[in-house]
Amino acid sequence: MTDVASPRFRFAPSPTGFFHVGGARTALYNWALAKRLGGTFVLRIEDTDEARNKPEWTQGIIDALDWIGVKRDDPTFEGPYFQSSYADEHVAAANRLFAEGRAYYCDLTSEQIQERSKQNSKPGYDGYSRDRGLEPGPGRVLRFRVPEGTTVVDDLVRGRVEFANDTIEDFVLLRGNGSPMFLLANVVDDVSMRVSHVVRAEEHLPNTPKQQMLWEALGHRPPVWAHVPVLVNEQRKKLSKRRDKVALEQFRDEGYLSEAMVNYLMTLGWAPHGDEEIVAWSRIQAEFRLEDVNHSPAFFDLKKLAAFNGEYIRAMSLDQFISACEPFLTGDVPWSPDQFDADVFRSIAPLAQTRMVTMNEIVALVDFLFLAAPIIDETAWSKTFGGDDAVAMLNDAIVAFDALTDWSADALKTTLEATGAARGLKLGKAQAPVRVAVTGRTVGPPLFEALELLGRDETMTRMRVASERAR
Ligand code: GLU
Repeated sequence: MTDVASPRFRFAPSPTGFFHVGGARTALYNWALAKRLGGTFVLRIEDTDEARNKPEWTQGIIDALDWIGVKRDDPTFEGPYFQSSYADEHVAAANRLFAEGRAYYCDLTSEQIQERSKQNSKPGYDGYSRDRGLEPGPGRVLRFRVPEGTTVVDDLVRGRVEFANDTIEDFVLLRGNGSPMFLLANVVDDVSMRVSHVVRAEEHLPNTPKQQMLWEALGHRPPVWAHVPVLVNEQRKKLSKRRDKVALEQFRDEGYLSEAMVNYLMTLGWAPHGDEEIVAWSRIQAEFRLEDVNHSPAFFDLKKLAAFNGEYIRAMSLDQFISACEPFLTGDVPWSPDQFDADVFRSIAPLAQTRMVTMNEIVALVDFLFLAAPIIDETAWSKTFGGDDAVAMLNDAIVAFDALTDWSADALKTTLEATGAARGLKLGKAQAPVRVAVTGRTVGPPLFEALELLGRDETMTRMRVASERAR
């Protein structure tokens, strides 16, 4: 895919205050390739838009990259560079293009351009000032003189894309106040950072012929291009931050595991060899090729992501699982620190582990163990105790459990099974009122193990309190 000895990839996000999952995928593509090919991953923050120049947003980008394994302290990583620091170079490049006749100044206002456009056969700027020989001056924009012919973009994902140059207007390089435009800044930075491969979102494909012309006009061979297809939602609409969940940070905070997220993002429009989709990063890095990326939009399927995450959660060792739980067990939790018991948690952890999709679910699965009384989910309560049967079942269970000499999960189960059977109830129905009485919820860890752990006294108290409440 490349004849460059030491390829240089780059990821060039514009800070937006959150890290889009599509950006994460693009970053991972660049990272995987830089790692496999022994190249470099350059991070450039495109912060020339004043409103986007917040230091915490840059930190957010670095933290998000770190979370998905694109590590700043890795020798493959270079930067971050800040586009705003290179404004002089952008302007100098523009001046050179002007001096060489590759760009010219124009003093038309946008109203005048619109007016002229109405009389022309083609919309847009018509090259009015091309031969007027204007010098720089306030309010005058510098425009690139688009040459005649055709621009062919060879794209590793899209294939060969041809653009007729007469469909491309003489685009602006410097604004009327002398500040550089994005297209120019982006190319000048790529040139000076010796970027060999531009792998980025598909939305930039229409910019590419212009940028390729700029590379050539500046005396450089254009980079290898690869435009990565957009991510779409269930309705096949492009993911949008207003409508869809797109912030990587949100997934992180809900307890998606970074390995699951990374693995899932890499399977959007690409697949590792063989039948398995759940594979380690080392395999992804070894197998990923841009040429194999599908060029149609990729469905960002939240259900599939959740399934990936569940698989990754279940694959963890107990110690890994417990440390992955830790961030969720402090801070916004219903128990106070002295109520939490690490040994009890260790005992319940394997039971919880099998039932979770995201790590933040851990709290609701175990809180009943650390609270003086369970948090009652009122909907679950009224559903369960709506009829008399459930209360009667609960009362029978109280009597039966009270008589137990062996307070073990096995004995509790056998007992409840028999008690339920006497009322003609299957185990599932028989245990529902007990579960709600003790945990406050209809879903939770396996019940009998939970009761064993909670202990006889606490279990019996909760069942009696519930029986009173449900009467
Ligand atoms: N700063 C641009 C963006 O965030 C990326 C431009 C590029 O990758 O060339 O969309």
